[in-house]
Amino acid sequence: MRRRGSRCASALLTPREAANGVDSEENKKKKWARLEKYEDLPEYLKDNEFVRDHYRCEWPMRDVLRSVFSLHNETLNIWTHLVGFLIFAWLTVVSLTEETTIKNFTARLFWEDIGWFNTTTMNESSRSDALYSDSYARHFSNSPLLIASKDSSSIIPLWPWFVFLGGAMVCLIFSTTSHLFSCHSRRFYYFFWRLDYAGISLMIVGSFFAPIYYAFLDLPYWRFLYLSFITSIGILVVITLLAPSLSSGDYRGFRAALFLSMGFSGVIPAAHGVLLYWDHPQVIASLVYEIAMGIMYGLGAMFYVTRIPERWRPGAFDIVGHSHQIFHVFVLAAALTHCAATLIIMEWRKVLHHV
Ligand SMILES: [Zn+2]
Repeated sequence: MRRRGSRCASALLTPREAANGVDSEENKKKKWARLEKYEDLPEYLKDNEFVRDHYRCEWPMRDVLRSVFSLHNETLNIWTHLVGFLIFAWLTVVSLTEETTIKNFTARLFWEDIGWFNTTTMNESSRSDALYSDSYARHFSNSPLLIASKDSSSIIPLWPWFVFLGGAMVCLIFSTTSHLFSCHSRRFYYFFWRLDYAGISLMIVGSFFAPIYYAFLDLPYWRFLYLSFITSIGILVVITLLAPSLSSGDYRGFRAALFLSMGFSGVIPAAHGVLLYWDHPQVIASLVYEIAMGIMYGLGAMFYVTRIPERWRPGAFDIVGHSHQIFHVFVLAAALTHCAATLIIMEWRKVLHHV
């Protein structure tokens, strides 16, 4: 039983009341699918007072599912991360099925763009020869969990790359489902937002795995230290955010600070890696991408916390352009930038391992 005054306007008539003639069946259907104004929402759904209208409120599951394809204030929040999930799912399929495609993908998108690396390391054909020159290497390169080089001593595992892809996919699909389903009921609201926070933590932890694993491949002690540190912090953050009260709008800044500090703790292993390999241009290139990623996450968090631009013109950005949508786009761009940084560091490690 919901508390008095906690129901949204469209749910004022129950199906039984409607069946008893309080309202016609036709009117009831219209009301169930009606979008609500902020002031008509129950307290738990009141998250952002600057988004004034177009809320789905306690809709039945069938209508919630259909709302993926209709316009409301969560449509773009759903789609920005659904598209992101599909991009990462594609990257995973490509990584699992076609080694050479990943190689080309790396080379074309993130390597050859930075032309000076070609002269400082080796040209494309010789690098290609070094990595895929004999049948033995080709045999190993068919294994999706390994990147093979010239001999078995230069095989580097691909699993940290899949940990990152998996974390990103989980985060993006949890975010998509949270934005879709949390309007259904109070229970769904608290369940899905906590699921969303767990997904964000998982993506941050997963993002650390590949760069740290490959950068500290020859330093197992440091590798273990950094990876167990970020995993422990991730678990602590998830446990902290299980408290339902922390899902409210009042704790928006606290949540952003928690996730940002998790992400920015990566500065320590990054500085360590640069100290070790400061004369390796690929490591510096990867660092440049990681700095770009940090700026994107920072900017995204700034929009998330300040709720710009909707605070300047409440109601004007309800469907398109409010801060959460901008935040989602920054998160996706940052995750793809991290993807680039990781591919560069993997390519560097393959070549280094081979020499
Ligand atoms: Zn979101």
